[in-house]
This record gives sequence, C-alpha cells and structure tokens, in this order.
Amino acid sequence: MGAACDEVALMSGPLDIALCTTQGQDVPGPIVPDAAPAPARGSIAIDNLSVIFGQPDKEFLAVDRVSFGIKPGEFVCIVGPSGCGKSTILNAVAGFEAPTEGMVTLDGAAITKPGADRGMVFQQPGLFPWKSVRANVAPGPRMAGRSDREAYRLADQYLEMVGLARFASNYPKTLSGGMQQRVAIARALVNRPSVLLMDEPFGALDAQTRAMMQETLLRIWADIRATVIFVTHDIDEAIFLGDRILVMSASPGRIILDIPVTLGRPRSADISLDQAFLSIKKSCLDIIRRESLLAFERQA
Ligand code: ADP
Ligand code: MG
Repeated sequence: MGAACDEVALMSGPLDIALCTTQGQDVPGPIVPDAAPAPARGSIAIDNLSVIFGQPDKEFLAVDRVSFGIKPGEFVCIVGPSGCGKSTILNAVAGFEAPTEGMVTLDGAAITKPGADRGMVFQQPGLFPWKSVRANVAPGPRMAGRSDREAYRLADQYLEMVGLARFASNYPKTLSGGMQQRVAIARALVNRPSVLLMDEPFGALDAQTRAMMQETLLRIWADIRATVIFVTHDIDEAIFLGDRILVMSASPGRIILDIPVTLGRPRSADISLDQAFLSIKKSCLDIIRRESLLAFERQA
C-alpha cells in the first residue's frame, strides 16, 4: 500500500500525497510533508448577479442583483420560499446557468462552466441503477484522467468516508434512500472539489435519517474543509449546519438577511434546545413566514 501511494505521489503531485496522508496508512515519513489538516479552499464572490429566463418578449426575473461573498471553508446555508431562485444561484456557481448580469467567481476566476473544483448533490441521488455503488463513484476520477485502478481506489476511499465501504459492490436499489444519498455525496467529493454545492440534499429523507445525514455531513466537512453552499427549506437544518444563513425574498430572489450562526462546533442534535439556537431561529422565522406568504399570494 505504501509503495502504491509513493508511486501515485510521484506521478501526480501534492494532491495524492494529501490523499495518502488522509488514509493514514503505512506511508513512510518523508512522503508526508505536513500531517496538519488540509488548508481551507474555495473563496466565492457573487457580485450583482441577476438571472433572467425566457424570451425578450416574455422575460422572467428569477434572481435580482444578488451579491455576497463566501470565505474558504465556510458553510453557508440559503433558505427562502419555493421559487425564489435558490437553485438558480446554486446553478450559477456550478456553472450550469450563466448570469444575465453580474459575475460569479471562485478563487478570483470567473465561473463560466462546470468544473471538477465544484461538486454538486441534488435532492435525488441520481445513481445509475445498473452500476455498482463503487462504479457510480469512480467516473469522476476516470474523467479527470486517473487509471481504472486509481479511480476505484479513490471511490473506495470516499465510500469509506461516508460509511459505505461495506456496500461498495452493492447495486443502488439494495440501499436505503439515506445510503444512496451518501453515495451521491461520495461521488461529489471524489475529485476533491474546493466547493460542495447541495440543493436540498436531505429533502426527500425521513426525519431520523435526515438528522443522521446532517451529523454525517458535518463530520465529513470537518475533514475536508471545503466551502459548502447548502440550500434548504428547513430553518432548523440551516442553523444546525451553517456558519451563516442567507435568507432570500420571494421571487424575484434577493438576499434579505445574512445571519451569522454563533454556535460552537462540533454540534450535536441536542443543540436545537439551546437558547442561542432558539433565538437565531426566532430571528429568521418571522421574515421567512412573511416572504412565504408573499410568494404564495403571487403564485395564486
Ligand atoms: P427555488 O430553487 O428557490 O425553488 P428556482 O431557482 O428553481 O427556485 O427557480 C426560480 C424561478 O425561476 C422559478 O419561478 C422557476 O420556475 C424559474 N425557473 C427556473 N429555471 C428556469 C428555466 N430554466 N426556465 C424558465 N424558468 C425557470
Ligand atoms: Mg430549488
């Protein structure tokens, strides 16, 4: 194993040295330059972003001059009423949606298309049913130019990170919804993106699985220190997970509140009973309720 890591490190540079280090196996001392956790990565700047859908004679303003920055390694949650543009903002950061106006940058470079530096997790896991769990995770590294053997090794490593090493040879239909979503997280992380984008990833799960997934996600994030943008309808989820919560207005989407979550880490489930948690929740709820009512009235 040590020999394999040496070989990869020589071929591919510091990334693989870090991967070997994370595994913490029999890598000889000199190969590991620094045993400290990987530095935080992924600074995002969204500057005056507007997105308009439709044709010139029938335009629809989905996102209205949104600006905010995210520090490397920060965990930011976006909440807001249905249809307010949360997914559109996430898609602009992913490079799936081009800004009509304004700009989105990652570490100073304009985002113009999807890239391996950003991983995305949707509400539905979207796994290939005819492929094993491992084969669902491996295509990322394969597309990044890794050999089959190396891609499968990385897939196994990230399946272990999400607690699914035992299920690597299973087919998706044999896994529960929560387990399938953990495969989707492994698939999003396997190329070591600096940014993880999550669009209501636990929205389809039952309450208990959801709570377990939230704790799992925080544990993984503490390891990888990537920047996370997490879209959710659930204010408790946003407070439990985030360093910061951005609250959006009803459509056209604007940021109307930017709340720091001043709770310590690591967090456990019973933090939701803390006074600090409840007071953050209270300051969010009124404004969200008002905006949801507005959205409902407009849709009606
Ligand atoms: P959210 O994720 O907050 O529920 P979205 O970002 O998905 O909202 O959508 C914002 C608005 O833009 C909605 O009214 C939606 O119908 C509209 N929209 C989203 N994508 C498109 C598209 N490709 N073409 C036309 N309208 C769209
Ligand atoms: Mg959405």
